[in-house]
Amino acid sequence: MKTVLVIDDDADLRFALSAFLTSRGWEVVAASDGNAGLELARKHLPKAILCDLLMPGTNGFRVCSAIRDEDALRYALLIAMSGKGFEDTRVAALEAGADEFLTKPIDLERLAALLDQVSGESRSPTEASSGLSPTDPSFVRFWGVRGSIPSPGPDTVRYGGNTSCVEFRGGGEIIILDSGTGIRLLGQALAEEFKGKSLGLTLLITHSHWDHVQGFPFFNPAYDSGNRLRILGFEGAREGLAGIFSSQMESPFFPIGLSQLPGHLTFEELRTMEFSIGQVKVRVAFANHPGVCVGYRLDTESGSVAYLPDHEPFHRLRSQPALPEALREKAAEFARAEDEKIAKFLHQVDVLILDAQFDAEEYANHTGWGHSSVDDAVELALRSEARKLFLFHHDPAHSDAKLDQMVQFARKLVTQSGKKLEVEVASEGLKCELIPAAKTAK
Ligand SMILES: [Zn+2]
Ligand SMILES: [Zn+2]
Repeated sequence: MKTVLVIDDDADLRFALSAFLTSRGWEVVAASDGNAGLELARKHLPKAILCDLLMPGTNGFRVCSAIRDEDALRYALLIAMSGKGFEDTRVAALEAGADEFLTKPIDLERLAALLDQVSGESRSPTEASSGLSPTDPSFVRFWGVRGSIPSPGPDTVRYGGNTSCVEFRGGGEIIILDSGTGIRLLGQALAEEFKGKSLGLTLLITHSHWDHVQGFPFFNPAYDSGNRLRILGFEGAREGLAGIFSSQMESPFFPIGLSQLPGHLTFEELRTMEFSIGQVKVRVAFANHPGVCVGYRLDTESGSVAYLPDHEPFHRLRSQPALPEALREKAAEFARAEDEKIAKFLHQVDVLILDAQFDAEEYANHTGWGHSSVDDAVELALRSEARKLFLFHHDPAHSDAKLDQMVQFARKLVTQSGKKLEVEVASEGLKCELIPAAKTAK
């Protein structure tokens, strides 16, 4: 049963809201002050909470921030209510953690529309139509290919200077892999293509390093109240996903807070390594990179894509001579098993987007940074029997000419192996179509 909690010291309003919400199929629990409200929230874990701001005892702002601090309540729809319609009050409520603000007397139709978002499965991506049909062509397009920090300039103009962002379309879904600075361009392109049509987008975040989240405040679709954005990722080492996104938009860094964005944003901490987004099957693997970092694999009927932008082979890191001799063999064995897991995860993927930040010489000076050399990227792609490899997460210091050399070298390695693998450099704007027949044409 879907539960809504009403916290208000006005008994008449509690009664009226309870009657209305019950008639719409909600189970209603109610409290007349902030402390009692918090207790009920913890007990019932409601899907939605309506909270008056001005109450005796703990005020509604405090109640909102206490609710947001509770892990189990973090994603409840929190609606602040006030008799004061001041903009200042609305902003303060949103800053305290409310998702929405309603002025009294409450517009019941508006309230019903807000609650519809969280009743049943309506916050799931399948109901948030992407604007595509499952039969639309499937492809990946690169919007940001650089690692670490944007690197615009004449030397990077061909492959691009924006940081990690890849668009995937398939199975009727638009799935965005990471929100580095490239996501700004994607936002402009989506706005242009869909012209005011409501969009349902899913954003998969590999980890929270700047080059994977920094572009989000400049993503146009988040500013359109008709759009729904579902943001998925694993909890960071120190902070939750929503906290990471909101802290990079706090006032010393950005003029608009995350909760003020008009688009309907939902954050979900992933707890599972396999799930679906509509018809797209998603698998996740932990990458060897500082903090909590993952790679994603998307499988559809049109083909598969794997995205592992930040990863260092386990065997490289664990074969360092610093380990005591007794442990070295055990560590090497562990590393082999971990590398094998990654290769299995990538097995026979059609399009493999892989960290290839360094050449072998540079890698020698950057062991333990959590990135791969081009040699290792090719080795992993060959071992996984991938069909097409895109060198990705280019070092900010690498010029177009350097990347040309790296891809030539990578192709040479493939030829020497006697195996079959296409290798390309990921470049901004490049689109790679997934063709179902590719599987049989091998
Ligand atoms: Zn990165
Ligand atoms: Zn990183």
